[in-house]
Amino acid sequence: MIREVGVAGAGTMGAGIAQAFAQAGYRVRLYDSAPEAYARAREAIERSLAKLVEKQAIGSADREAALGRIHRAASIEALDAADFVIEAIVEDADEKRTLFTALDALVRPDVVLASNTSSIQIATLAAVTRRPAQIVGMHFMNPVPLMPLVEVVRAVTTSHATVEVVTALARSLGKTPVEAADRPGFIANRVLMPMINEAVSALADAVGTAEAIDTVMKLGMRHPMGPLALADLIGLDVCAAIMDVMAKGLGSDKYAPHSLLRRMVAQGKLGRKTGEGFYRYR
Ligand code: NAD
Repeated sequence: MIREVGVAGAGTMGAGIAQAFAQAGYRVRLYDSAPEAYARAREAIERSLAKLVEKQAIGSADREAALGRIHRAASIEALDAADFVIEAIVEDADEKRTLFTALDALVRPDVVLASNTSSIQIATLAAVTRRPAQIVGMHFMNPVPLMPLVEVVRAVTTSHATVEVVTALARSLGKTPVEAADRPGFIANRVLMPMINEAVSALADAVGTAEAIDTVMKLGMRHPMGPLALADLIGLDVCAAIMDVMAKGLGSDKYAPHSLLRRMVAQGKLGRKTGEGFYRYR
């Protein structure tokens, strides 16, 4: 029975994941190695819950109850009583492997450990633990409280029982789980990133302006957002990094970032977070 959930990493995704679990009734312990991260995450969660109350998606008693279920874990050791742990720390394989080694030594042997990674192979995280069958990917989309999809990533080492645990957990959060194999990019980025890269290529070839390309995909394909605006939202550096991982892992240059995307990243035009990407936000 999962009652207490440990979340490691209290950035954009960790805060959203903590909120989703707390709203579904789980007790959450949120850990981050940066001392200021918890307060920032708590503010983001409060803002997000307030918006949901405003939209009448939840009541104010639900907001208070959810907030009351989220507690700071001042150190990783404070996750020791967790019945399930998900990590959403920085996308760095070495950092994640160190964290999984520590979690494996800390929590009960029956506990499932999940990663929210976008591109790191789950099998490489499983390999540093003594519980490879209980290591799995649980890939949420941003913003977590609003996006209904969870990719459940099964490594060759992941047991059927573990996949079932995470599938049921995702459903208990009101999300729709979709199973994906542990291949670079899983399903979401395997399909999304080449589309973004092709939109960049079309822009570089002057097939259309950024507005024209995005309008075609919005009005012609019913996408809620055009691929270039979406790339700005995700972060152009993040997109390029995921494409590099896929190009290497899948052994094909067709996934490699377009030279225009690389140039923009080198110039510090990373999208919304820097005020400029394919569009200007200042
Ligand atoms: P972020 O930079 O907003 O947050 C990462 C947090 O991890 C930071 O607060 C940092 O202090 C903390 N951290 C770093 N090393 C740590 C450690 N060793 N122990 C504990 N905390 C540590 O990043 P994010 O966008 O929230 O992404 C987190 C993960 O989620 C990554 O694996 C990323 O690939 C994945 N992801 C991101 C998105 C997205 O759209 N942002 C979507 C799906 C998955």
